[in-house]
Amino acid sequence: MELFTYERAHNPEAAVIAGAPSRAKFLGGGTNLVDLMREGIERPSALVDVTGLSQTIVETAEGGLLIGAAASNAAVAEHRLVRNRYPALSRAILAGASAQIRNMATVGGNILQRTRCRYFYDVNGARCNKRDPGQGCDAIGGFNRYHAVLGTSSHCIATHPSDMCIPLVAFDAIVHLAANGGSRSIKLAELHRDPGDTPQIETALDPGELITAIELPPLALARRSAYRKVRDRASYAFALISVAAALHVDDNRVTDVRLALGGVAHKPWRALIAERALVGQPATYDTFLAAARAELRAAQTQRDNAFKPELAARTIAAVLRTLAEEQA
Ligand SMILES: Cc1cc2nc3c(=O)[nH]c(=O)nc-3n(C[C@H](O)[C@H](O)[C@H](O)COP(=O)(O)OP(=O)(O)OC[C@H]3O[C@@H](n4cnc5c(N)ncnc54)[C@H](O)[C@@H]3O)c2cc1C
Ligand code: SF4
Repeated sequence: MELFTYERAHNPEAAVIAGAPSRAKFLGGGTNLVDLMREGIERPSALVDVTGLSQTIVETAEGGLLIGAAASNAAVAEHRLVRNRYPALSRAILAGASAQIRNMATVGGNILQRTRCRYFYDVNGARCNKRDPGQGCDAIGGFNRYHAVLGTSSHCIATHPSDMCIPLVAFDAIVHLAANGGSRSIKLAELHRDPGDTPQIETALDPGELITAIELPPLALARRSAYRKVRDRASYAFALISVAAALHVDDNRVTDVRLALGGVAHKPWRALIAERALVGQPATYDTFLAAARAELRAAQTQRDNAFKPELAARTIAAVLRTLAEEQA
């Protein structure tokens, strides 16, 4: 590990000043960044600890929620308003990592955690365009059971590993940002990028930009939401695929639906094709499955992950059927 400085920021203004140098990194719980530093993948010259910034979870004037970026994953999952109004968010967080890690991990760090592609971590043995641009991608043609099937490129097929981001993107979450030049807000759906030919550029953030908060708009539909994660073991494993869904059914027809997928793409994947196909349709398993398969039609699979499109489609259909039955 290389030498670096450490500074604890007490407000966002101080954080963005300290985080301005090109090799500075913000430090949340450190559960991903410190591992990457130990492996020599991240080599910051300065760490700016932002765990002392806002951890509050408050209702907005519009009836949504504003969640400070330093709130722990555990605090968000356990919060009464999150559990009551956005249950899929609570369940997604609880489906991730372990209790100890969820206590340490922050909202900002969870959003910006990096891929778990094993070749990305293998600094001495593997070629990886994300780690060393232009080197090649050993996951293509290698072990790629966990890799992406939507939005991939010939340069990178990594997935974004976050569970928390999947319901957030389904519920149109907004990310509030601060930088030396001022503040701005963008949709979470616009934060993460497809890999294209620059997989090392993972987000739409400018250098030194700090996540200060996440805002969930009011969404009555989200009260009837669910998260299902399919993985190789029942706990302490990343998703093979995951589904966040919210559904409203009236007179046995779908009147509104939100769907997002994890484990299938370089970013949290909002399933807009399926959503559009479902509105106005009968709330039946066959309709759900047909819409889900339409979403996955563009999937490009590899040797070890050819099962993912159908697994994702069937999981979407199963989750929607459960939500529909709860409203029958
Ligand atoms: C064994 C293990 C199992 C795991 N299993 C799962 C799982 O099943 N599902 C899942 O979703 N996750 C899982 N994780 C990942 C875990 O959720 C992340 O490590 C954690 O959420 C990262 O949060 P952090 O606060 O520790 O981030 P850090 O490690 O501190 O930071 C991560 C990145 O975010 C940046 N950052 C942090 N805060 C900010 C901010 N406010 N503004 C801008 N940039 C910021 C940092 O600079 C860094 O680049 C697992 C991790 C481990 C170690
Ligand atoms: S899939 Fe992406 S992260 Fe994994 S080896 Fe290929 S380029 Fe690297």
